[in-house]
Amino acid sequence: MNTAFIALGSNLDSPIQQIQSALKSLHTLGDVTGISSWYQSEAIGPTQQDFLNGAVRLETPLPPLELLEALQQIEWDHHRKRITRWGPRSLDLDILLFNALSYYSKRLEIPHPRTTERAFVLLPLLDIDETLSLPGGEKISSFLPKVAYQSLNRLDSINDYR
Ligand code: ATP
Ligand code: CA
Ligand code: CA
Repeated sequence: MNTAFIALGSNLDSPIQQIQSALKSLHTLGDVTGISSWYQSEAIGPTQQDFLNGAVRLETPLPPLELLEALQQIEWDHHRKRITRWGPRSLDLDILLFNALSYYSKRLEIPHPRTTERAFVLLPLLDIDETLSLPGGEKISSFLPKVAYQSLNRLDSINDYR
C-alpha cells in the first residue's frame, strides 16, 4: 500500500457539491484515512471566485502515474476544462506527497512543486498530520511563516463556503 496526500480545490459550478462528489470518487481508489478542514482561499492568477480547498490522505495500491491518471479521470468526470492557466475550475486534484518519493517527469512531479509556497496546501496537510515532512526531511510546518501573508479562512463546516 502507498500513502498519498491529495489536494482538492474548486471554485466553479457549486464547489461544495464538486468537493463532496470528488470525495466519493476518491474512496474508489483506496482508503481515505484523513480529511483536512476546509478552507476558503483567495485565488491566485486571474480575478475569480474564491476557492474551496482541502486535502485527504489516501492509502492506495495504485502506483504514482496510475494514481495521476485516475485523478485526471475524476476531474474530467466533474467537467473540468482547461481554459486559462490557474483559471477557475470545477475540480482540481493534485498529488502533493506520495510515500517518501521524489519523482520528476514531464507528466508528474512529486512532491507537487508548489506545495511549500501555498498556505491552502500547507494548512490542510498539517490538519491531517502535523508531523509531516518532505522526502528530504524538512518539516511541512517549517514553511508556514513564508505563507503567513496569504488570505485564507478555515471554515467550521464545508457548508460555510460562500
Ligand atoms: P498547479 O500545478 O500550479 O497547481 P494546476 O493544478 O492548475 O496548477 P493543471 O492544469 O491541473 O495545473 O495540471 C497541469 C499538469 O500538471 C497535469 O496535466 C499533470 O500532468 C501535471 N502534474 C505534475 N505534477 C503533478 C502532481 N503532483 N499532481 C497533479 N498533476 C501534476
Ligand atoms: Ca493545482
Ligand atoms: Ca492540477
